[in-house]
Amino acid sequence: MPDSMPPPACYRLRLPGPTEVPERVRQAIARPVVNHRGPVFRATLAHAETLIQPVLGTSNRVLFFAASGTGMMEAALVNSVAPGERLLIVCQGQFGERFTSIARVLGAAVDTFDVPWGEAVDPAALAVRAAQQNYRAIVLIHNESSTGVATDLGAVGAALRGNPALLIVDSVSGLGGIEMCQDEWGVDIVVSASQKALMCPPGLGLASVSAKAWQVVNQPDRTPSFYWSFPKALAAVEKSETAFTAPVSLVSGLCEALEMIHQEGLAHVLARHARLSSALRAGGAALGLASFGAAASASPTVVAFMVPESLDGGKIVRALYQDYGSVIAGSRNRLAGRVIRIGTMGALNEGTILTDLSHLEAVLASMGHRTTPGAGLVAASAALHTGN
Ligand SMILES: *Cc1c(COP(=O)(O)O)cnc(C)c1O
Repeated sequence: MPDSMPPPACYRLRLPGPTEVPERVRQAIARPVVNHRGPVFRATLAHAETLIQPVLGTSNRVLFFAASGTGMMEAALVNSVAPGERLLIVCQGQFGERFTSIARVLGAAVDTFDVPWGEAVDPAALAVRAAQQNYRAIVLIHNESSTGVATDLGAVGAALRGNPALLIVDSVSGLGGIEMCQDEWGVDIVVSASQKALMCPPGLGLASVSAKAWQVVNQPDRTPSFYWSFPKALAAVEKSETAFTAPVSLVSGLCEALEMIHQEGLAHVLARHARLSSALRAGGAALGLASFGAAASASPTVVAFMVPESLDGGKIVRALYQDYGSVIAGSRNRLAGRVIRIGTMGALNEGTILTDLSHLEAVLASMGHRTTPGAGLVAASAALHTGN
């Protein structure tokens, strides 16, 4: 179907972000737009902050920006880095590379800690490397959406404890779907965005900054910036406002999404992500789609499947959309054509992944990749019901 045509009646947004926005959240976003400096919005923003602090595992003030995730990655670096200052950036996929590009644009001296794509970061090796230089910050991705690999942030935080460098983490595709204990793990800056496990449309970014990081942020040598200034954002949030016009509708939506998370129970939400992602992997394996990346570090929020040699990932993605209105992702990097990715974050349930597998089976069969009918569903059901 050409892009200029409307989406099919059945439109299943199964990307690793943006993700499907639940009806309740869409209703909240549809409320009348209010004064961004008035009492209604101030109450909403304060509520959003209170609700997201336990998801972050922090008692820090939370700074909100109208921004995509990349904007927040840049904001984290702009506020902590001075030109010429040395950073160690963990590169294990596309988003690690993006952090490197941003840091170079800002004039930082960038060292990379390279991890083969699909492998997990070894916290001890990272700590050894981090101790070899006087770094201003160690920068990494909590959940590398390009490879479907999650970082054991608790172990990284523990290994880096005592290192004076800041620990800066992008949890854009982790927060709300993977455990985050910012304060306990010693993470200095966490940035995230609304459109992944937080079940909102794109456009709302957030940052949580530790006391240790504020000392750096408040140094006079930071990269100059106006819109991204964390000190301005902090002064605003102390009045339950944002420094510049907040995306008020998205903040309402985020409040509603966070209410949903707390009603279900955060621990339950995180367990659901783990359970559904592993069942989807089991189902994919039964269809001949091996998971990309180290099994022990498999992401609870993004499943990356390797495409069988005889097939092309882009064609699978297109056929899923054309035949079923199921929108999944390919890869737009060195894995292009070889890996397809499905989001397992936010508002999904058992039926969601069983439907994914049913569509995948049919599309693969139409391309000549035949499996025992229902094999993916059987394997996924077995995984779901044994609790793996
Ligand atoms: C989605 C994502 C981003 C942000 O991308 P935007 O398109 O700028 O919102 C950043 N980091 C990771 C790990 C992501 O998955």
